[in-house]
Amino acid sequence: MNDVRELQLTGQVRTHITQIDEPRFAAHPKTVEAFLAMRDAAQKEGIILQPFSSFRNLKTQIRIWNKKFRGEKPLYNIHGQERDYHSLDKNEIIDAILGWSALPGASRHHWGSEIDVVDAAVMPQNYRVQLLPNEVQSDGIFARLHVWLDENMHKFDFFRPYRLHQGGMFPEPWHLSHAPISIPAQQELSIAMIENVIRNNHLEGKELLLRRLPQIFRDHINNVCLP
Ligand SMILES: [Zn+2]
Repeated sequence: MNDVRELQLTGQVRTHITQIDEPRFAAHPKTVEAFLAMRDAAQKEGIILQPFSSFRNLKTQIRIWNKKFRGEKPLYNIHGQERDYHSLDKNEIIDAILGWSALPGASRHHWGSEIDVVDAAVMPQNYRVQLLPNEVQSDGIFARLHVWLDENMHKFDFFRPYRLHQGGMFPEPWHLSHAPISIPAQQELSIAMIENVIRNNHLEGKELLLRRLPQIFRDHINNVCLP
């Protein structure tokens, strides 16, 4: 494994990423191609498959992490209800963040294979996407999108790594993963690479994270639903 690959897998470079203008997103070229084909198919059914979040670099993930750790961004439970930040100790804060957000350096969004999706066809103007469970439930705004994805996304090699709660990440049905890119990436990403990221960056909870890394690697990073 070369150094560039390590930097790609941990979101420190974007040499593996293509930027698209319409719809606006950034992903691995092969994922871009598969996603655009899936978008065309969905459009025939009146669904406008729109990326809400795609490639994310390490700096952005660190910013999200630190804000959540300091209580500057809300923490949610598995049902999407806000938690009381001040009632949590540092370990509980880490657990609460890890329910919905990846450890910086270990976000699947670093790989260019992951896209969080919404249906632009059903969103009222000024609708604020939350990416919370109520939007995808059977009476939620994106229910029809998810029925369509259930039936069709496999044809384009997409799957839902956070389909079920297995003790790690909470279910995120909107988070789609492009298997031909993400499965090799997951196999290549090592605990040593993530340790390098934690040591070399300003991350809130650093010491605790280094101590807990083997558990986090097992229960969160590698604990996903495969296709
Ligand atoms: Zn996501």
